[in-house]
Amino acid sequence: MSDFTMKTDADGVAIITWDVKDKSMNVLSREAFATVEALVDQALADDAVKGIVITSGKDTFAGGMDLNVLASIREESGDNPAQGLFDFTMNGHRIMRKMERAGMDPKTNKGGKPVACAITGTCAGIGTEIALACHRRIMTDSPKAKIGLPEILVGIFPGGGGTTRYSRMVGAMAAAPVLLEGRMLEPAKAKSAGLIDDVVPAADLLETARQWVLTATDADIVKPWDQKGWKMPGGAPYHPAGFMTFVGANAMINGKTKGVYPAAKALLSAVYEGALVPFDTALKIEARWFTTVLMNPSSSAMIRSLFLNKQALEKGANRPAVPDQRVQKLGIIGAGMMGAGIAYVSANAGIDVVLIDATQDGADRGKSFAETTLDKGIQRKKVTPEKKATVLGRITATTDYAALQGCDLIVEAVFEDPRVKAEVTAKAEAAMLPTGIFATNTSTLPISDLAKASTRPDQFIGIHFFSPVDKMMLVEIIRGKQTGDIAVAKALDFVRQIRKTPIVVNDARFFYANRCILPYGTEGIRMVREGICPALIENAAKLMGMPIGPLQLTDVTSIDLNASIARATKAAMGDAYPDDDTAEVLFWLLDNDRHGQKNGAGFYAYDDKGKRTGLWDGLNQKYPLLADQPDVTEVQHRMMFAQALEAVRAFEDGVLTDIREGDVGAILGWGFAPWSGGPFSWLDILGTPYAADRCDQLAAKFGPRFACPTLLREMAAKGQSFYGRFGAGEASIAA
Ligand code: NAD
Repeated sequence: MSDFTMKTDADGVAIITWDVKDKSMNVLSREAFATVEALVDQALADDAVKGIVITSGKDTFAGGMDLNVLASIREESGDNPAQGLFDFTMNGHRIMRKMERAGMDPKTNKGGKPVACAITGTCAGIGTEIALACHRRIMTDSPKAKIGLPEILVGIFPGGGGTTRYSRMVGAMAAAPVLLEGRMLEPAKAKSAGLIDDVVPAADLLETARQWVLTATDADIVKPWDQKGWKMPGGAPYHPAGFMTFVGANAMINGKTKGVYPAAKALLSAVYEGALVPFDTALKIEARWFTTVLMNPSSSAMIRSLFLNKQALEKGANRPAVPDQRVQKLGIIGAGMMGAGIAYVSANAGIDVVLIDATQDGADRGKSFAETTLDKGIQRKKVTPEKKATVLGRITATTDYAALQGCDLIVEAVFEDPRVKAEVTAKAEAAMLPTGIFATNTSTLPISDLAKASTRPDQFIGIHFFSPVDKMMLVEIIRGKQTGDIAVAKALDFVRQIRKTPIVVNDARFFYANRCILPYGTEGIRMVREGICPALIENAAKLMGMPIGPLQLTDVTSIDLNASIARATKAAMGDAYPDDDTAEVLFWLLDNDRHGQKNGAGFYAYDDKGKRTGLWDGLNQKYPLLADQPDVTEVQHRMMFAQALEAVRAFEDGVLTDIREGDVGAILGWGFAPWSGGPFSWLDILGTPYAADRCDQLAAKFGPRFACPTLLREMAAKGQSFYGRFGAGEASIAA
């Protein structure tokens, strides 16, 4: 059956219903777009039809465009993918414009048929763009429903007319939260933002839309930009107010994106240039910028990692084929910072939780984190008091291990001490279901060693959360040497229940994420010691798209933690330990009572309220600045290769088995330059031959830590890319 169907009722209202079978959310396929056009043509040509209502057969309206379509158009378009993408985009404009003009006379603007959009629930991307092309948008007041244009979040921008239409409806400034930040709005807010016209109860939705269509006049259906004398709200670029807006917006975008996200800049260009010309030309300009962005490797890498592969991993791309392992009753041991966070997100996802700590006070304190967080939600009107009561009712805070009876998963988050962990493992295993899985949240201890305390090591696994648990979306699942498939599936099903994104890695020092982020901080600190200007280091990192510089990162994670990791790594590696020089900087800071953000003194100086006031000038006294500072690209490459080469080594070593996990994990786990799509995508954007050359240069100048990994060298020689060779999750490097 077709994704869109049409029925005309007795009053002559043609109801076009969008309902993609076997999908929970409507997404627009290429074929379906052609069907929409045929149905609109048919309705416009039929004298019995007075107007059209477009709606959905589901309680959501649309999730957007099937992003795989864009990739396939690029591939099909042979030597000229830009032309293919542009033609595709212009075809979409043509169809939506036909709907918008609705058969009216081009000169008099009379005689068109009204088209209303009855939005049954959440509506995003192309769904919203179709709605914007209609003459009236009516949305259900369902509390879960949201509407918006979140394209910018995956590295593109609304290219189906949404940018041009919405900015012309409300003005460039007012459109910014929706277009530039990708904010999804609840119905009432969407109405005040001018994105929709009306909010009604679900039961009245279709009838309200029908009545509007039956009573709309010629004047009601002419878009403002199709009327004589139209002016851009808030001012076009050469209007005094518009001038202020665009200059400000330009600065704001560059400030926020540091110039590394092509989509934001292209979006603003489309709005700016489009505002100077008639509507149809503006659509053409939007299509050109959209094509430019789609042709930029950053956008395809972002779509691939942040949308397609992230979704594939969430749906269990690497899940062993065993029956459903969803968690029924969860035990958490250790109600400190991590345990409390895990308890909250799990209870929030509907799981019953037993939260254990050494003392009742400790357990209660852990539970109170959930209470405080829910209270904040109530203040922001995101949570109801009933919901708070239900979620808190799911958490039992206790010291009694007998309460773990019936638990099918336990996550321990006690102190990072193997003896304490061994003790709680034994106690928990004696109390929980014999078939249950025991997981550790350790960040540094090898899983296979901790599993020695277990009587059933095949049911023992690492589930590594990141802090703060309620905000960080990545969960790293670590397979120990003896971990079985059921344990992996259990961990994956649990992560899916709490709506986070999992990666599955093998057991090795620091697993994957911490292994790659540590060299980033270390390289930054090493440069301070060499006399490179700390501000250059920090800004170079941010200009490369890292969320925070390496020195700030070290302050945030605390200098004592970094120093103790340095000590432990040196103890484990002995003479092979490569980072004595950076450890020296950390120890010197500690000697000067500088522990980082937590005591208001680190690489940065802080005021009494704990706010950073600037880089600490004591750094330059101890490590005087070089007279000749390096260029910014060299500083950036040192920090980027430090991370990316570690990712490649993790893949070579078999810690990572899927580069998709390496990329998604890097962006969600430690914020690796999201514009690049992750470390493997970044190396692909550079091109493996260039990357290998660059390794040789960096290694010659700065040491063997930049030595080109064998795999990268071989791929460079063959002219291969990581995604060309391993893209669909092919695990074997030997392939
Ligand atoms: P924390 O010190 O805040 O909490 C540990 C809790 O465990 C305390 O409440 C303590 O009372 C409790 N505890 C200690 N021994 C116990 C026992 N025998 N029985 C019951 N409870 C006991 O520590 P945290 O930061 O929440 O870290 C916990 C674990 O999570 C560690 O293994 C750590 O490596 C790991 N981890 C921490 C982070 C982080 O950023 N803090 C991130 C990932 C993983």
